[in-house]
Amino acid sequence: MVSHCKSNEELQELVDVAKTYTKQGKVADYIPALKQARRDDLSVAISYPDGKGYCAGDVSDKLTLQSISKVLTLAMALLEKGEEHVFSYVGKEPTGDPFNSIAKLETNTPSKPLNPMINAGALTVTHMIVGKSVDERFSRILQFVRDMAQNQDIGVNEEIARSEYDSADLNRSLSYFLKQHGVINEDVEDLMELYTKQCAIEMDCKDLARIGCIFAMNGKDVMTEKQIIPEDIARICKTFMVTCGMYNASGEFAINVGIPAKSGVSGGILGAVPGKCGIGIYGAALDDKGNSIAGIKLLEMMAKKYSLSMFNT
Ligand code: GLN
Repeated sequence: MVSHCKSNEELQELVDVAKTYTKQGKVADYIPALKQARRDDLSVAISYPDGKGYCAGDVSDKLTLQSISKVLTLAMALLEKGEEHVFSYVGKEPTGDPFNSIAKLETNTPSKPLNPMINAGALTVTHMIVGKSVDERFSRILQFVRDMAQNQDIGVNEEIARSEYDSADLNRSLSYFLKQHGVINEDVEDLMELYTKQCAIEMDCKDLARIGCIFAMNGKDVMTEKQIIPEDIARICKTFMVTCGMYNASGEFAINVGIPAKSGVSGGILGAVPGKCGIGIYGAALDDKGNSIAGIKLLEMMAKKYSLSMFNT
């Protein structure tokens, strides 16, 4: 059985098949600047702990992290504030609702977001990131992402950040709700600025795959022996990726693919195959749940070809 990718060409064959599905998807348009993305592009990278990596498709395309950033700020908040603090403000259970839903906030008592992967939970986590100003808090998030990706050139797409900031009324309303109920206690505009910038951190699928590899290898960069994040935090993040990482399609994804993964409305998917490798995918055409339609097909094919499902040992 094949368990290791051997060449870019091998991955390209899978991309060519998966790419046909982009036609069935739609690029996100509720953040105006995301509409400019090319619907038919698809790229993938796989990163192994020994430093080897392969990629295929439109690999020079860049994506903004969007909801993928939620796993990274969660890791940071756990590092800085500890498990007890973080989980006294945000829960650990999937919602079965769309990522931006407000519904469960109203019916849950006390009013605590159900998990850190939905917008309400992610806003609560971003609120925890420490620093004297929004700028300082953002630089700290950016530095953390650069360290995880081992690429100090990663930056932010200011146009996409601004476009989301100007149109983030749903996230504003979630934040005001959280503030009213004492879950957060900062100026909502500050939180919006920080959150929309974190979502607009920009990279390519190879950067994403390297981040996935750190999570996959229990927080360690195996090449340098450096522990980037503690093992426990990597474990918690991967577990959330399994239970809530693909929004309200997480159950189906766990059955069909079986990889801890986190998607974003830009069309990015971060995959962390425990003990094996990291995967980064970018395909802007989305399905009706907001996940990259061709990206999911590609992951299904990769999971089969390389025996990646964590539920298949
Ligand atoms: N920035 C986006 C938002 O808050 C992220 C959502 C997502 O990627 N699903 O709406």
